[in-house]
Amino acid sequence: IRDILARYGFTFSKALGQNFLINPSVCPRMAELGGAAPGVGMIEIGAGIGVLTAELARRCDKVVCIEIDSRLLPILDETLAGFDNVSIVNDDVLKVDLHQLIAREFPGQEVAVCANLPYYITSPIIMHLLEQRLPIRSITVMVQKEAADRLAAAPGTRASSAISCAVSYYATSKLMFTAAPGSFYPAPKVTSAVVRMDIRPTPAVQVEDEDGYFALIRAAFGQRRKTAANAIASGLGLPKDKVIAAIEAAGFDARIRPEALTLEDFAAVQRELK
Ligand code: SAM
Repeated sequence: IRDILARYGFTFSKALGQNFLINPSVCPRMAELGGAAPGVGMIEIGAGIGVLTAELARRCDKVVCIEIDSRLLPILDETLAGFDNVSIVNDDVLKVDLHQLIAREFPGQEVAVCANLPYYITSPIIMHLLEQRLPIRSITVMVQKEAADRLAAAPGTRASSAISCAVSYYATSKLMFTAAPGSFYPAPKVTSAVVRMDIRPTPAVQVEDEDGYFALIRAAFGQRRKTAANAIASGLGLPKDKVIAAIEAAGFDARIRPEALTLEDFAAVQRELK
């Protein structure tokens, strides 16, 4: 890998979260756990120099990678020359119309997403994938261990946060394995981990106003050391006594913390607030 990068005069962009996988056992494991198999169409976000891409391409019918850094394109031409089932979209994943991409590239096919994510935009990318209700089966990502814990935490438990609630609403999630900093080049400062999210056929709870529901959850977690009531009141600009009344009417103590509330509990608070 160092040799390839040196030959192309490639310098890593910290701003683009470029820490490439160099541990040879990680990519095959990630590809397998990410559901790469015959009959599956795979979307990869951030191809880097194609180490994970190659493992996905070996196992899947077709792989489409979205890579923002055009300096990597000639390198990928070389490293993926042995595969005729890979295409690269040179764009920012947050700007790509993924519904259109899936309809175009994978008509009638089962689709999954697998990626070693750039850590600077882990949450925006995951929310981008979940909120659009894409016709995909699963999302398997390598992220910082701390972020992985939040993605895998069940709402209503201590480690939960707003993103845990969003993930649980759309998917079931599981932390699969961890990877030490030395698995990457350059090595990041922290341990990483792989989380797999299996998309639910329908959201975990039924709510009438989804935007309002997530606004409530974001507000509740917006000020970590505050009670849910205080955080919701200041986050949504509502009178505190009204919020406390709704929380109590939903059956909870007025001093309850947001991490103690499940998806159903937030739905009940939202109904009472209305
Ligand atoms: N998959 C490779 C690997 O495992 O070695 C590279 C992973 S590296 C952590 C993240 C990759 O995402 C980089 O190649 C980076 O250029 C790319 N990237 C960063 N921001 C992106 C964005 N907004 N859209 C698409 N790709 C992005």
